[in-house]
Amino acid sequence: MIFKLSDLQRIARKQKYAIPHVLGGNLEMTYGAIRAAEALQSPIAIGVAPEVFASIPMEISFPMILNIASRAQVPVAVQLEHGKSYEQIAKAIKLGVNSVMFDGSALPYNENITQTKKIAEMAHAFGVCVEAELGYVGGSALRTPAPGPAGYKTDPDLIPDFIAKTGVDGLAISFGNVHGPYQGKPEIDLALVEKVASLTDVPLVMHGGSGLPDSIYGKIVAAGISNIHFYSAVAMHAWGELKRKIGEDDQYPPYHEVVAHSLKFFEDKTKRLIKLLGSKGKAGDFEKTSS
Ligand SMILES: [Zn+2]
Repeated sequence: MIFKLSDLQRIARKQKYAIPHVLGGNLEMTYGAIRAAEALQSPIAIGVAPEVFASIPMEISFPMILNIASRAQVPVAVQLEHGKSYEQIAKAIKLGVNSVMFDGSALPYNENITQTKKIAEMAHAFGVCVEAELGYVGGSALRTPAPGPAGYKTDPDLIPDFIAKTGVDGLAISFGNVHGPYQGKPEIDLALVEKVASLTDVPLVMHGGSGLPDSIYGKIVAAGISNIHFYSAVAMHAWGELKRKIGEDDQYPPYHEVVAHSLKFFEDKTKRLIKLLGSKGKAGDFEKTSS
C-alpha cells in the first residue's frame, strides 16, 4: 500500500515513534527494506536521492519502487528526497511519486522560502506532500563527498515564519545530525528538537541517522522527530556481509544468488532499524488514505 509520507509521519508523531526511511535506489535495497517492514508489520519510507540518478535514473527506479510498494502488505511511502529543482520534482511527480522533498537548505533564507513555496503550491495541486529543510545538515554518504559547507543548526526563531510562508507538510531540521556515518562523538541537540517541536505541529525529520549509539534513537523520537533517514548504516552492513559471503564461496556464484544475499542483508539491517525507532507492529495504525 502506498501512502503519502506526511500521513505516516503525522500518525507516528501522535503515537510517539518514528518512520524508518531508507534509500531505495535499486531492487535489493527497496525489496529488502519492504520485506523487513512486512515481517515486523511496520510502516516504512523508501527514498531516492539525486546522487543515485547518475547510475540509476529516476525513470527506472521510481516505477520499480512504486510497483513493489503498491504490492506491500504494510504502508509504504515513496519519496524523492533532496530534490534539487522545480523541474526535477515535477518529473518525479509525473512518474507517480506522491511524496517529495525540496532541499533549499543551502540557499539564503528568503530564497529557500520562495523556491519551497513555489514547489509546495505545484505539488499540492497534484495531491503530493512536500518536505523542506531549514538549517543545513552537512556531510554525505558518498565515498568522496563534494566539498560543501559544514552543517549549521536550525534556528528555532525562524520556524513559525518558514512554515507559514511555505505551507510544507514536513520539515528536516539540523540539530547536530550529519549525513553519512557519524564521525567522532555525537553531539545531538535534543533540546533544540524539543524547542522546534513545541513551535509546530508539522512533523520533523532527521536526515543522517547512521552511526549513532542505539540508546539515542528513543530519545530523539521522544524529543519530537517522526521520521529518521538511514543509508550508510544499511549499505555498510550489506557490504560487510556480502564480502564475507563471497569469501566463503570459492566458486563463481550465479548472480541472482548474489542478489538474494544482498536482499537478505538489506532486510536484516532494516529490521534492526525498525526496532530502534519503535515502529514495529504499527502497520495497523493506518487507514488507507491515498494510493
Ligand atoms: Zn538526507
